[in-house]
Amino acid sequence: MEDKSFNAFEMAQSQFDGVADILGLDEGSKELLRYNLREYHISIPVRMDDGSVKVFRGFRVQHNDARGPAKGGIRFHPMETIDTVRALAMWMTWKCAVVDIPLGGAKGGVICDPHNLSSREQELICRGWVRQLARDMGPLNDIPAPDVMTSSQHMLWMLDEFEMLNGEKAPGFITGKPVGMGGSLGRTEATGYGVIFTIREALKELNIPPGDTTASIQGFGNVAQYAIELYNQIWGKVVCVSCWDQQEQTSYSFKKMDGIDLKALQEITDRFGGIDKDKARGLGYEILPGDAWIEQEVDILIPAALENQVTRKNAGKISDKVKIIAEGANGPTTPEADKVIEERGIFLIPDLLANAGGVTCSYFEQVQSNMNYFWEKDEVLGKLDLKMTSAFTAASKLAKDKKLYMRDAAYVIAIGRVAQACRDRGWV
Ligand code: NAD
Repeated sequence: MEDKSFNAFEMAQSQFDGVADILGLDEGSKELLRYNLREYHISIPVRMDDGSVKVFRGFRVQHNDARGPAKGGIRFHPMETIDTVRALAMWMTWKCAVVDIPLGGAKGGVICDPHNLSSREQELICRGWVRQLARDMGPLNDIPAPDVMTSSQHMLWMLDEFEMLNGEKAPGFITGKPVGMGGSLGRTEATGYGVIFTIREALKELNIPPGDTTASIQGFGNVAQYAIELYNQIWGKVVCVSCWDQQEQTSYSFKKMDGIDLKALQEITDRFGGIDKDKARGLGYEILPGDAWIEQEVDILIPAALENQVTRKNAGKISDKVKIIAEGANGPTTPEADKVIEERGIFLIPDLLANAGGVTCSYFEQVQSNMNYFWEKDEVLGKLDLKMTSAFTAASKLAKDKKLYMRDAAYVIAIGRVAQACRDRGWV
């Protein structure tokens, strides 16, 4: 059986439908929650460096804000689609709810490829995006953040534009700001570290010392690199990573059985997470096809690149040795592959839980920005660990008590909380 042709929003809705049935949600709640509350489609005209005007298409989708202001990143991607943004907005609602932070879900995107844009052109896209959406966003309303191919610099341009338009400082408008400009210490590390906090807890439950484990990771960007940093600190060994080769428009895996050297690999990686193949070969890495990361005989797999990567086709290649799959990326597993993972009894830490460290720390940043009072890094990471650990423990306990798959358990907690908030507000 092949995977159905992939549509992220249909996948998000079908996941929601399954959980709505487990929860026994009423028709009104189902109809409300399986769609977005609001979505904006915008055009951003930009005077390019060569003097021509190019119009970029962008989106902002606010899925649900019953539990608090909507929150979610902005992606710059040449293949961005409204359905991907819709799905990601819905997943943000569940993610904020599963870690129990008082925020709703949103997501945004611009169809563009930063690889082919100058810094000035990217700044104009950021400022244009805010000009189109400023009246529908704000610190108590909808708060953006960085995501795929956007950085703290992009956030700062957006914040500057928002403050110029509103005539006052509003550091809580956006998160992922540079440290020293209202950013939180620990934010850069938060998503990758969060993935490892949940893996550490899963290993405890499985009675496996982290130092006895190996991992293979898809991606070598922000999430993957900080996951590797913390995993190494708890003595785990990463033997394979993969990344996208921009020049060749394909992906490659980089394997080293005695463990990759994070610092050395970072030195030969561009800012988009692409590793230089020739230099890696020189450092003793075996260069394999892009899919090879999933076939490795390791204890832990971490897809941390993009959605739709673990499919029916390659799920069968997952080694019998694999005990944990932690979804660093959003929506990396298709429903067909998910069934394979569930049937094989692999301990899955689903995306909404595994990668919730990013939004949790963004929430901390927003709190600090609104107070204009900043915490030390240890305080931020300590609070992050507490939130991630308690969210993991709640999902894992529910999974055991009700004999649920971990993904379903996390969704039952999250959707249950959002549905309750909608009922409490009298919306349904
Ligand atoms: P990034 O742009 O920093 O890195 C992405 C990495 O994936 C790069 O190394 C790139 O080369 C690699 N990649 C892209 N396509 C690939 C392919 N087909 N095969 C193998 N590798 C490929 O992005 P990031 O911030 O690390 O985000 C990764 C994922 O995590 C995304 O799904 C994102 O939505 C999700 N996520 C990120 C955050 C965050 O705080 N950054 C938070 C939650 C979820």
